[in-house]
Amino acid sequence: MKQRLLFLGPPGAGKGTQAQRLAESQGLLHLSTGDLLRAEVAAGSALGKEAEAVMARGELVSDALVLAIVRSRLEQQAAAGGGGWLLDGFPRNVAQADALAELLEELGQQIELVVLMELDDAVLVQRLLSRGRADDNEAVIRHRLEVYRQQTEPLIAYYRERNLLAPVEAAGTVEEIGARITALLA
Ligand code: ADP
Repeated sequence: MKQRLLFLGPPGAGKGTQAQRLAESQGLLHLSTGDLLRAEVAAGSALGKEAEAVMARGELVSDALVLAIVRSRLEQQAAAGGGGWLLDGFPRNVAQADALAELLEELGQQIELVVLMELDDAVLVQRLLSRGRADDNEAVIRHRLEVYRQQTEPLIAYYRERNLLAPVEAAGTVEEIGARITALLA
């Protein structure tokens, strides 16, 4: 069973929901950079203060900041004896993907699969609007989709070239999509 996974896809594709389910059922460490950043914002930490305005605009927080978050969690897990992990919302651009590759080399670990969740833009926007998070108003959503197209979408080719990419149709019920993803891990 593959147990070192990335979840890739546009905002609203359901990465968080599927990542959480899968991490629970497979006993993987679930690292969502969006959740971790929101926790920092809620705690009012210096890091959270730095991230808050950027997130509200729908832009990406600095690579150094998210990388520091991911690095500390993966190092902690490796020091505690290792195990599987699932990265959700990271990497989000090629610089982050290169930095992740370097970090994993240091740790002697490898990405085993990149799950790409695919969904139409119209459905994405509808889902995000009904979610009602602080950064989920229509203008910010459109901007997040643009940022995704420009900065994150190049990762599709990046991981395809490395033979790691597994596209999944992200329409259907949570259970149906979950079953499609589980089938890819064998
Ligand atoms: P969504 O999947 O709906 O875009 P996330 O929870 O993954 O939501 O991310 C919310 C916001 O957090 C992003 O718009 C961005 O500002 C910030 N963020 C999350 N992950 C990263 C990352 N890897 N690099 C830069 N910014 C990030």
